[in-house]
Amino acid sequence: MKQSKRFIFLICVCLFVFATSCSAATNAEEIKLAKILGTMNFSSKNEILNNKNQFLQELKAVLDNDSDFLLVLVDKTHFLQPDYVPEDLIPLKKNDLYNISRNDLSLRIPVEKALQVMSRGAKKDGITLLVSSTYRSYDYQKKLFARYVAQDGEALAERYSARAGTSQHQLGTAIDFGSITDEFAETKQGRWLYDHAAEYGFSLSFPAGYEDVTGYMWECWHYRYIGKEACALQKKWFGDIQQYMMEFIDAWTRED
Ligand SMILES: [Zn+2]
Repeated sequence: MKQSKRFIFLICVCLFVFATSCSAATNAEEIKLAKILGTMNFSSKNEILNNKNQFLQELKAVLDNDSDFLLVLVDKTHFLQPDYVPEDLIPLKKNDLYNISRNDLSLRIPVEKALQVMSRGAKKDGITLLVSSTYRSYDYQKKLFARYVAQDGEALAERYSARAGTSQHQLGTAIDFGSITDEFAETKQGRWLYDHAAEYGFSLSFPAGYEDVTGYMWECWHYRYIGKEACALQKKWFGDIQQYMMEFIDAWTRED
């Protein structure tokens, strides 16, 4: 009898150790997390530090689920190579789900699929989305930026246009919708996207009031596809600011 009790006790200990090793963050992960967050400055980071296990579980699910290219950090100091061209670009054709403003638009296949799903959702609410700009090559972006510099001067151009190699459009996962002006925010399309894009995996890259963080003025028309789970992670842990999440993920995956 005594022996069987001891045996049951041992089994319980084993189960407990097994269960905690499955769900808990390792020491190394906790140190890595604290180290990265120590270099970052955003208000919700204490939430992460206070809920490390939960956060790491959700982070890992996103990193396991999403293709790497969806979560690549591209900003003023993180460049894409001039010869970086996504391998699965497909041209956007005239269709019943969304409108296109020109005939030379293209997106990566999973992004176009997600756009279809989102457009179906918008249609249900009586809204047809207009796609105005999508993939841009390095050379195209170079010409575009030079044109804006000639028009507005370098300092101003830097605030609303990306230098070649630093544009999310080169990823083939970013879309500019509608008029590409501030007025878009107050249109039906603009409002619908603001409220619902994340449900379909599209994240607003340059929100209002965050120029010092993103490097760009507010762009109510520019959405980047990162996947639904990543959008939820962004909202829950990063104050819904894409730049914070991308910087964090960049640091996290770099340290592996
Ligand atoms: Zn854009």
